[in-house]
Amino acid sequence: MKQEKSGLVALERQIRRELKYLNYPTENWVKPVTGPKGETVLDVAVIGGGMCGMAVAFGLTREGISNFRIFDAGDEGCEGPWVTTARMRTLRSPKRLPGPHMGLPSLTFQSWYRTQVDDETWEALDHIPRETWMEYLRWYRHVLNIPIENNNTLKKITPESGILRLRIAGPEGEFEVLTRRLVLATGRAAFGGVRVPDVFKDVPKELYAHTEEMIDFAALKGKNVLVVGGAASAVDNAAVALEHGAREVHLLMRSETIPRLNKFKSIAYAGFLRGYYFLEDEMRWRFLHHGLSERVAAPRRSMLRLKEYPNFHIHTGSGIRNVKVEAQRVTLETDKGALTGDFVILGTGYAIDIKQQPELADFADQILLWQDCFTPPADCPSDELGRFPYLGPGFEFLEKEAGTASHLLGQIHLFNAATTLSHAAVSSDIPGVNIGADRLVNALSIQFFTEGADAHLEDLYAYDDPELLGDEWRVGDSATGHV
Ligand SMILES: Cc1cc2nc3c(=O)[nH]c(=O)nc-3n(C[C@H](O)[C@H](O)[C@H](O)COP(=O)(O)OP(=O)(O)OC[C@H]3O[C@@H](n4cnc5c(N)ncnc54)[C@H](O)[C@@H]3O)c2cc1C
Repeated sequence: MKQEKSGLVALERQIRRELKYLNYPTENWVKPVTGPKGETVLDVAVIGGGMCGMAVAFGLTREGISNFRIFDAGDEGCEGPWVTTARMRTLRSPKRLPGPHMGLPSLTFQSWYRTQVDDETWEALDHIPRETWMEYLRWYRHVLNIPIENNNTLKKITPESGILRLRIAGPEGEFEVLTRRLVLATGRAAFGGVRVPDVFKDVPKELYAHTEEMIDFAALKGKNVLVVGGAASAVDNAAVALEHGAREVHLLMRSETIPRLNKFKSIAYAGFLRGYYFLEDEMRWRFLHHGLSERVAAPRRSMLRLKEYPNFHIHTGSGIRNVKVEAQRVTLETDKGALTGDFVILGTGYAIDIKQQPELADFADQILLWQDCFTPPADCPSDELGRFPYLGPGFEFLEKEAGTASHLLGQIHLFNAATTLSHAAVSSDIPGVNIGADRLVNALSIQFFTEGADAHLEDLYAYDDPELLGDEWRVGDSATGHV
């Protein structure tokens, strides 16, 4: 990208001016609470400083909810998958999607990018390189001054007298914070980790990796690599292995034909993203069930990236039945025969299994899931969808058994991809992030006000800032002389 530093400086100045016109940061209005021993209590702790966590932080600050902290396990500037485990060359979504602007046109990717290049360069940009998207997110953090505390990992959540005690592991050891609300903006793999087929449970770890892990691709030079899965991440990982000199790469997919559609692209419009939550359960289930059961195609660009490699092979109809390991080589027995390789990459997606999520495992049994309260229609059963959490209007967990855990669950707001069955993709993908962050911040604002209503009413009773000083008009004064 041709750098135009002065353009960026001017844009930042403009954004600061626009924020000033919005009285940003808005003065805090939330009534403070203290812990059982008089400790400081946060109003909100946000876990995750990726795109979703940052949009929430911006929304809270605009709303006048300023007593929050935001923690991220990753290194500064590397939050989310973009420069760590993502292996596509460019974003999968179109460049014109506005992203986490929260109503400010100057905050969009387009605004940031166009400020630094001429019109021709913008028009010529096909899709956004993933490193450029990360650069944009770093700038977003910088220009909004979002106070992310990096290298801090949430380990444990404990309820305590109406608040939550969080145990966090940071660079200087573990520490605790108390908070009234917890937002888990923890990304794609944070509701049970990744999906690893059972047949891999005895395979030595040095012989396989999931696409969500860091992989030493240089070590795959000259090796025979087997990639399992037919969606975008499997295809991108196959490409990177080939680009690093793998001798052969075989991509194995269950589907009899290469999937050609991505149905989710057709349900990213505002009406769907805003209105989906308000549908009857069966209708929500039918939308998601259809989207997921049609296998999701990899982007065309990712498939074309493989074209130049004669040592790349696709095997359709090749579901894995069994895995054997012999002399440090892995044999995958499939519906269509066996294939042997030196290393396997699993592009098998993400698990939905709350019991496997460390910080939620202690009270996973108390959280309401779809399978606890909804019976799917006979024509669209799904065990996996049944394991999604059934969330309230502000993304809060609900209790499985009424009256048992509302003190804990109602204070935890899930804001990652596992909200999709309840709320649509408004807390995971670029098109929905504004809608999701707005909905969450509204819910928090309403909760803080209603919880503090007594104190706010006292404030109203005590209010004595006079509008008039008494010298403006006296009885007897009259412009017409008739008062
Ligand atoms: C490979 C890949 C490509 C994608 N491409 C696109 C695309 O082109 N277009 C699109 O719209 N969407 C895309 N997505 C989906 C989505 O936009 C991304 O997943 C995006 O990163 C979601 O943002 P997020 O803030 O929810 O999660 P993330 O960006 O993943 O951020 C979550 C953060 O939470 C932190 N965290 C997690 N657990 C803890 C913990 N216990 N304690 C502290 N911190 C924690 C992590 O360190 C991470 O930084 C893609 C996803 C992937 C995986």
